[in-house]
Amino acid sequence: MKCLSLLGLVILAWTLGCERPAPPVVKNARSVMGTFAEVTAVAPERTTAQRAVEAAYARLDDVNRLMSDYVADSEVGRLNALTAGDSLVVSPETFHCLEQGVRIAELSGGAFDPTCRPLVALWKRAGQEDRLPTDADLQQVLTSVGWRKLRLDPATRRVTPTVDGMQIDLGGIAKGYALDLAAEAMRAAGATSGLVDVGGDVVAFGPREDGRPWRIGVKHPFQAGLLLTLSLTDLAVATSGVQQRFNTVAGRRYSHIVDPRTGCPAEQAPAVTVIAPDGLTADAWATAFSVLSVDEGAALLEHTPRPGVEVMWVLPGPADPLIRQTEGFAVYVADGANTKPANPHGSNAGTP
Ligand code: AMP
Ligand code: MG
Repeated sequence: MKCLSLLGLVILAWTLGCERPAPPVVKNARSVMGTFAEVTAVAPERTTAQRAVEAAYARLDDVNRLMSDYVADSEVGRLNALTAGDSLVVSPETFHCLEQGVRIAELSGGAFDPTCRPLVALWKRAGQEDRLPTDADLQQVLTSVGWRKLRLDPATRRVTPTVDGMQIDLGGIAKGYALDLAAEAMRAAGATSGLVDVGGDVVAFGPREDGRPWRIGVKHPFQAGLLLTLSLTDLAVATSGVQQRFNTVAGRRYSHIVDPRTGCPAEQAPAVTVIAPDGLTADAWATAFSVLSVDEGAALLEHTPRPGVEVMWVLPGPADPLIRQTEGFAVYVADGANTKPANPHGSNAGTP
């Protein structure tokens, strides 16, 4: 009898749970950081969800204002006007990106480098003038590039370039950090879950309003449409593509991502998607793995595993793209395109 009434209670609770209407969802798309953004907030009240969306956009704008190297009076713009030995105290946000950027530069053997701007500018100019840089140009520019030449004092948040011509570019990391800050602001505003998507890079927290994980599309690098869909929650996803933006010189495309080790544009996997516990990590490593070859990247993950970081490399194949991914990446793949594994061994988990 006791058992029966207990069962009744369980059924009642389950039924009530099923009948509870889904919480309000507010979804809003805007243009942010020169790209398309979409913020989705779930909250007990619609007005709370709306406030959370506004809070997210405010944080995205903050990061752009502080760290865009196109805005002359941004903190990064002001850092880039310094001469060797001069210094600037920056906001906690900018300092965090620089500190993490330098850390990932070291971990990636210099593939990621927040001081790469002179190289990015050199290759942009090459595209505008339709003329390849000479070896002398490259060597000259490389003298002002290198994360070891940037002094960061965590106690005062003072940033000091130690060589003339040093230029900061947080384009490979700031967007991911902006996603983290936006998600944090949404939670603080009362959102129980949410999704922040800026140009396909995403941070998702909490479950969707129906209690299921969020579904996140990864664009096909070689044609219109999606390559696959990921199903996840409380994680970030970022994709970098060496052919996504490029400079054309003598009819050849050169990536907007540079290899700071050589000074030349990155020429590795056309697209790399990284899943990580936070947006900053996903963004910076997606850029780093675009510079490293697939084998270099896989070896790095094997020798110094990064907790929670899962990677998918998409390479051109004879018909469908070839996919190589870490074992853990496959866990999040909900629907995959008709793709083949690039290498059935090692960390490659095969097709979704
Ligand atoms: P993403 O789309 O996140 O891969 O970032 C690409 C942007 O990062 C470029 O447009 C540059 O502003 C910057 N960038 C290019 N090469 C590097 C590099 N090797 N390390 C760090 N940032 C880079
Ligand atoms: Mg990046």
